[in-house]
Amino acid sequence: MRRMRNVKVLATLGPASSSEEMIRALFEAGADAFRLNMSHGSHDGVREMYDRIRKVEADLDRPICVLADLQGPKLRVGEVAPDSELIAGASFRLNLKHGVGDAHAAELPHKEIFEALEVGATLLLDDGKLRLEVVEAGPDYAETRVIVGGLLSSNKGVNVPDAVLPVPALTPKDRRDLDFALSLAVDWIALSFVQRPDDVAEVKKIVNGRAFVMAKIEKPKALDRLDEIIDIADGLMVARGDLGVELPVEHVPGIQKLITRAGRRAGKPVVVATQMLESMIDAPVPTRAEVSDVATAVFDGADAVMLSGESAVGDFPIEAVAMMDRVAQSVEHDEQFRAAIEAGRIEPETTTADAITLAARQVAETLKAAAIVCYTASGSTGLRASRERPAVPILVLTPVTQTARRLAIAWGVHCVQTEDASSFLDMVIRASRVAEGEGFATTGDRLVITAGVPFGSPGRTNILRIATVGTERGRPRD
Ligand code: PGA
Ligand code: MN
Repeated sequence: MRRMRNVKVLATLGPASSSEEMIRALFEAGADAFRLNMSHGSHDGVREMYDRIRKVEADLDRPICVLADLQGPKLRVGEVAPDSELIAGASFRLNLKHGVGDAHAAELPHKEIFEALEVGATLLLDDGKLRLEVVEAGPDYAETRVIVGGLLSSNKGVNVPDAVLPVPALTPKDRRDLDFALSLAVDWIALSFVQRPDDVAEVKKIVNGRAFVMAKIEKPKALDRLDEIIDIADGLMVARGDLGVELPVEHVPGIQKLITRAGRRAGKPVVVATQMLESMIDAPVPTRAEVSDVATAVFDGADAVMLSGESAVGDFPIEAVAMMDRVAQSVEHDEQFRAAIEAGRIEPETTTADAITLAARQVAETLKAAAIVCYTASGSTGLRASRERPAVPILVLTPVTQTARRLAIAWGVHCVQTEDASSFLDMVIRASRVAEGEGFATTGDRLVITAGVPFGSPGRTNILRIATVGTERGRPRD
């Protein structure tokens, strides 16, 4: 099954989409990757969804990318009595320990926050709906003034945009969830509320190559050190939900472009997330503004667009995926799309693999080749090819199952698991067979192939070969 677009669709699974039939239907409608949100549900429930994804993958014989999203240090208030309304201008106290809260005080069971709070700092409650300003802070309390009031209920989230909080990247729950996700063999781990490069480094160390690690950019402080975070992470998510709480929401579009461009420059997949088709949670058609939002991410050259509630709890998960697929195809067929992608073109690095990959794109575009075919074990050559954003499809041929799955989220890449080439002739015949079988080429079409010689030795893409499908069959020349 071949997608008729380059950008990928990442769909969050949840109660509305956890059955095998739904997972299959979502994949068939266009979902290339699935997100398992560790903030919700039990390990058993997550395992069931994971197993179903792999069943669908085996049935359809297409690699599917699975991303486990760790909740991260999400801060919450304690229990609060019903009908507790905070009034603008009034004082409100937060205590490290407090019984059931009310309109005057509540528990905030995070010691580290009090230590990091300074007078004048802003605290945002319930996705930013309520706003407090710190007037006095001690080791176990903060006296605040209510700037924007409203109803407060139990366990609502707390955001502290102004401070780098001395909280670890992983909570004890995250550590358990991470171990569990790795035991399932998920392909990507997403880390929420990344504040510093060290947060990503810590997770990478634990993961130890067993998955790729995606840094969710949702804290303003992460933007100060974005380049260092990108250096360490394998991919990025523009997590617009929390970003739009911690920052003025009107800053988010510019930051989306900044992160997308930075990720693309580094050749690391970028996912644009949250509220893309929000109204489709309970309507079968999106708003024009939502369609435009998905289109913008595609024009910007994002690797993937994500559905959250739309596919996890909404009434129209399949319609939402199908809509993303349609919008993406339409944008990519628009003549302004190529111009937008070209405008974001990036200088290659001075490595052999980069030079070969750049050449492969140029040759493929000049010859109007049917595809670029990359032999890759680790996937790094495939990601380099994706970074080039070529006008022709990229076929990634890899003997490694996990590489095929991990790269399924990368722009323009169609992964196929196959044995490594054993000779030049084998390389050409295998590439031709896969390109024909997957619907990318027919007899007489040209392919531009990159690989590493000697064959079977990973980490050295050093040859570029132009082949014509159907002409080299059984001609043992090499
Ligand atoms: P979340 O992350 O859905 O896990 O909060 C995405 C976001 O914040 O946009
Ligand atoms: Mn978030």
